[in-house]
Amino acid sequence: MTTLAISFDDVAAAQRRLAGIVHRTPVMTSRTADAKTGAQLFFKPENLQRIGAFKLRGAYNAIAQFTPEQRRRGVVTFSSGNHGQAIALAAQLLGVKSTVVMPHDAAAMKRAATQGYGAEVLGYDRYAEDPEQVLQRVVEQTGATPVPPFDHPHVMAGQGTAALELIEQSGGLDLLVTPVGGGGLLSGCATALSGAAPLAKAIGVEPEAGNDGQQSLERGEIVRIETPKTIADAAQSRNLGRHVFPVLQHLGTRIVTATDPQLIDAMKFFGSRMKLVLEPTGCLGAAAAFSGALGDIRGLRVGIVLSGGNVDLARYASLVGG
Ligand SMILES: *Cc1c(COP(=O)(O)O)cnc(C)c1O
Repeated sequence: MTTLAISFDDVAAAQRRLAGIVHRTPVMTSRTADAKTGAQLFFKPENLQRIGAFKLRGAYNAIAQFTPEQRRRGVVTFSSGNHGQAIALAAQLLGVKSTVVMPHDAAAMKRAATQGYGAEVLGYDRYAEDPEQVLQRVVEQTGATPVPPFDHPHVMAGQGTAALELIEQSGGLDLLVTPVGGGGLLSGCATALSGAAPLAKAIGVEPEAGNDGQQSLERGEIVRIETPKTIADAAQSRNLGRHVFPVLQHLGTRIVTATDPQLIDAMKFFGSRMKLVLEPTGCLGAAAAFSGALGDIRGLRVGIVLSGGNVDLARYASLVGG
């Protein structure tokens, strides 16, 4: 018997826990996008979620299940990105102290946003120190509980609630497409489908420069790569999680890729046609639909999670302005 990290019931329970906490983001459609692909596309803009990305779903679902003792001692994580902000806000909403470890040279805006949600930001020297060791020191000194960005059953189940909503709001799907970094979002969404839309298939999309997940599913074991060079900075993880991988394998989930120029084209499409500001990683699913990487999707009902929109304006302008 396989013991997978999460089941459909875990995703359904997460949805009840998150009710009234996360926004039920809308579902948007576009005749232009449908005409481009021949499919019926249902976009879930999680850039409109609190903190600007889906990550609050998993972070809140994890901290909400802390024991009273864990709540007293706090939560700690390592992230200079969306997960750090999600942990900070989730902890604040639950009255728990949070510490977010990030490099001294992380973007000032990200640091300020994380502190703005009430987290203590602990800087480290990325050339001299290992963030895992910095995090471990916090755990030893304070007894705080670490919540990693993707490889945790409660995080995975929380992320899956995006798919549950999308299935309900769209009135049924043949295919559900999400970006892939460490695979927390994809594994949660694939698990949501397995119970709520069992005939539908989940497909993950990685940056072409960092297709470790695709390689892992092909080889049947977790493949580790060097940090990939891509503008999709929220999907620069080096390997799928060990809780994530068996779920993807068991559910027969596929992973395809998108290139940086395809991501830029998609950012332009969403900015100009749908008035949505998306970060490059947020466009992975749509870029694959537009490029044909998903295969023949004509006539299908395809849900696409637009995972986030946290990109500073100067960078956004330089990416879409060219
Ligand atoms: C974290 C993140 C991802 C990747 O999620 P995983 O669970 O690591 O696969 C994709 N898009 C955005 C905007 C993110 O913040």
